[in-house]
Amino acid sequence: MKVTESALDAIGNTPLVKLRAASEATGCAIYGKAEFMNPGGSVKDRAALAIIRDAEATGALKPGGTIVEGTAGNTGIGLAMVANALGYRTVIVIPDTQSDEKKSMLRLQGAELIEVPAVPYSNPDNYVKYSGRLAQQLNAREPNGAVWANQFDNVANLRGHEETTGPEIYQQLGGQVDGFVCAAGTGGTLAGVGRALKSRKPDVKIALADPMGAALYSYYTTGELKSSGSSITEGIGQGRITANLAQAPVDFAYQIPDEEALPIVFDLAAKEGLLLGGSSAINIAGAIRLAKQLGPGKTIVTVLCDSGARYASKLYNPAFLREKGLPVPGWLA
Ligand code: PMP
Repeated sequence: MKVTESALDAIGNTPLVKLRAASEATGCAIYGKAEFMNPGGSVKDRAALAIIRDAEATGALKPGGTIVEGTAGNTGIGLAMVANALGYRTVIVIPDTQSDEKKSMLRLQGAELIEVPAVPYSNPDNYVKYSGRLAQQLNAREPNGAVWANQFDNVANLRGHEETTGPEIYQQLGGQVDGFVCAAGTGGTLAGVGRALKSRKPDVKIALADPMGAALYSYYTTGELKSSGSSITEGIGQGRITANLAQAPVDFAYQIPDEEALPIVFDLAAKEGLLLGGSSAINIAGAIRLAKQLGPGKTIVTVLCDSGARYASKLYNPAFLREKGLPVPGWLA
């Protein structure tokens, strides 16, 4: 077992967990990269660390400086954790639709939280644009300056995955990986892991799993950014080609309704001991689609982004599910 000098060194090197039912149903070996085991509890710890290290290296982030970000929650939690460990302050702008569990976690970590109404990216008050303006204002005002993490268009994000997540997957499987699939928020995971795997094994297939309400499935299949429907999942579902997504080597794209994805994580909790968030549900549904497309005997990897504990009041709340017209699993009801 590894001994680390700080919480930061405990980020990454997560296990690959075999997903039994998904593997049995497809005749493939389907693995989930257990990113919920990172110290901040999600895949976004890696992006947070990579973005902060990059801002230090360029000199943009000075000792005692402030990090500002617009985030659905997990990036903020990762940034606050890394910032606490390194002596920076964090200011987080979050859409008010995100789960209370994530908001409390941010407060516990001492992040200054600004909740804003959830409005589309085209609106100047969108949380991402709001956070960019706030970073500029704080940079002019704070004695040690402020930086905007800008996870969507800062490619330090994808480089973090290209240098850690992707190579770990390749090594863990001794190069025996045929496909990788995940959903995109910023696209950092998809682009970074995709690039790392393609550079080591050019015939590996990279697939996007898109929730309803996102525009990327349409983009990768028709060239047009178009969306319809909605999803209760959080942290994924992009409407534009971010700078991170622009570098994603995407072979296939799938559109996954919540009705297809959610029963998978409900079963995983009850039968395989894995309590996961909604984006993991979309990812695993995508892995099953890719496994069916590639045929039996293949090895497919996806990402278990965060824990279901972050969504006790929503995804794992029967009243919430009923209100959304979604099926409630027997064990939860
Ligand atoms: N799942 C969850 C729960 C997330 O918070 C995020 C990031 N917003 C993602 C998946 C998507 O990761 P990425 O930003 O690398 O596309």
